[in-house]
Amino acid sequence: MSTQEKTNGKAVIDTNNIKLAQSSSYSALIKNNAAWVERKLAEDGEYFKNLAKGQSPEVLWIGCSDSRVPANEVTGTKPGEVFVHRNIANVCVHSDMNMLSVLDYAVNVLKVKHVIVAGHYGCGGVAAAMSSKQFGLIDNWLRHIKDVYRLHSHELDRITDETAKVNRLVELNVTEQVYNLCKTTIIQNAWKERHDLEVHGWVIDLGSGLVKDLKVSSSSPHNLGYVYELDVEAVAAH
Ligand SMILES: [Zn+2]
Repeated sequence: MSTQEKTNGKAVIDTNNIKLAQSSSYSALIKNNAAWVERKLAEDGEYFKNLAKGQSPEVLWIGCSDSRVPANEVTGTKPGEVFVHRNIANVCVHSDMNMLSVLDYAVNVLKVKHVIVAGHYGCGGVAAAMSSKQFGLIDNWLRHIKDVYRLHSHELDRITDETAKVNRLVELNVTEQVYNLCKTTIIQNAWKERHDLEVHGWVIDLGSGLVKDLKVSSSSPHNLGYVYELDVEAVAAH
């Protein structure tokens, strides 16, 4: 660290330099915003007036919080086209009220046609879940990915290359999260009412920027296994 010096064996942190660096990276955000507004208005003087009118996205993106995988940039879409939920390692747990609220709103109010779980190779969350180190609170979240590992340990234990093992777990994690979404009452009830809702699994390759469709798309509850397939009419009758 350039701002750190050793004095009598003790580390001295130059807080003034840190504050300067912090304020310049922060003020850059405000400047960038103003420049973005200027660019947008130069292209279309009504841009923000139209954007403020409302949204009707056809896609819900459930991705990783990693700063390198922004939904709009990856898919070449504009503001208003993708409804987004992100968390560490794109996990979909049926007790996560945040994810369920986003899913319910997207499916039942916005009537999105595609729900995409988007993981990415080299995911730090997935790699952390593979290790036995403790990282703090996040270990409880990563436990869901350890569960995915346990489900697929026969395959994963045979992979000796660590990078290949992380990347295969990234794919399997996305597949399991797609499966988890399909098990929710939100998706299953929507499928009873309409046939234009699909759930997909993708992995983004950060090295090339390209998306790999894992071909696990689902548009009905019939391949979930009888344990998870809910009889919606029986519930409604009670
Ligand atoms: Zn990640």
